[in-house]
Amino acid sequence: MKLFSKFFDSFDISAFFSWLMIMVALFLIVNQWWIQGAAWDIELKIDDKLKWESMEVCTITDENEPTLEEETHNANAAAAPLVEKKADKSLHFDDSYSLGPSPIKACFPSHQVRINAYMYHYVRESHRDSSGSVVYGNSITPETARAHYEHLSSLQSQNKIHLAFGSEIEEWEKADCFPHSNIVMLTFDDGRWDNYHYLLPLAREFNIKANLWIIANRIAFSVNERIDSFMTFEEIRRMIDSGYFEIQSHSGTHTDLRQKSYEAQRLDICESTKYLEKLFDIKINNFVYPMGLYNQTSMNVARDCWLSYAFTTLEGNNSVSDLSVYPFELSRWRVNRWSTAGDLYGR
Ligand SMILES: [Zn+2]
Repeated sequence: MKLFSKFFDSFDISAFFSWLMIMVALFLIVNQWWIQGAAWDIELKIDDKLKWESMEVCTITDENEPTLEEETHNANAAAAPLVEKKADKSLHFDDSYSLGPSPIKACFPSHQVRINAYMYHYVRESHRDSSGSVVYGNSITPETARAHYEHLSSLQSQNKIHLAFGSEIEEWEKADCFPHSNIVMLTFDDGRWDNYHYLLPLAREFNIKANLWIIANRIAFSVNERIDSFMTFEEIRRMIDSGYFEIQSHSGTHTDLRQKSYEAQRLDICESTKYLEKLFDIKINNFVYPMGLYNQTSMNVARDCWLSYAFTTLEGNNSVSDLSVYPFELSRWRVNRWSTAGDLYGR
């Protein structure tokens, strides 16, 4: 008791609160540093960091055991009759109902549907670097981007195409109901800053939606820390929030997957998916192989990471049956500096 009262005699309340404030401030600083540091860790300490986080998401589950997602889906399916009746009714009376952001009139017969994905990269004034060499072969100029958007807008208003996000393709496939026979997916690989600078205003002006495939370890958290010419967190966030862009994964490190073991590919693909989902509070459902390089292991990993589709750089369109038969080997049309909108979208 004597010791106890001595403690209170010497207890200085203002000093105690000063210390408390310092400890709270230190905690906040360290916490902030850790969150921002996570992005760099993926690149710098890929083995350690990725293993740490990926284990939670990438654990192989028993195929017969329903996942949480499947259970939710089943629960929704059980409650579905009412919803379906409602949809049928509105379809009957209004001849239209809404699936996703665009109104659709009917389901097109699957065998008539083609999904044309177009592979863009940079939007740049010049294809050459300071030495005069052509280094951006995959780029288009801002003028070409505008011409393409204008052309697409015209096709869209004439109902000749239906622009789609990757998530919508999955919804339509599950529902076995595609809103148009000519589904067009605009895809921009790598997530360069010029996408934000040129495409966001064009998307708003022409009401055009597009898919951005982002490399997880290239996202900086401020303009000053920008990595090469990649978009920052804030820029990607604004693209998503505009409603015109959906982001998907283009791997964690953008390296040749064919050189990696199953486990290493799993870390790269699963981790980038989980990281982007967490960072932007979104759902990732598809993937693009870095540089178009992949092997059978890459496709197995994409499946095991619960992705629905993976796109390649092989040219061609996709039928609805391709979505289920070759979901991890879907094709895209290549867009480069010689591509004209008429050639591309006249197919
Ligand atoms: Zn790429």
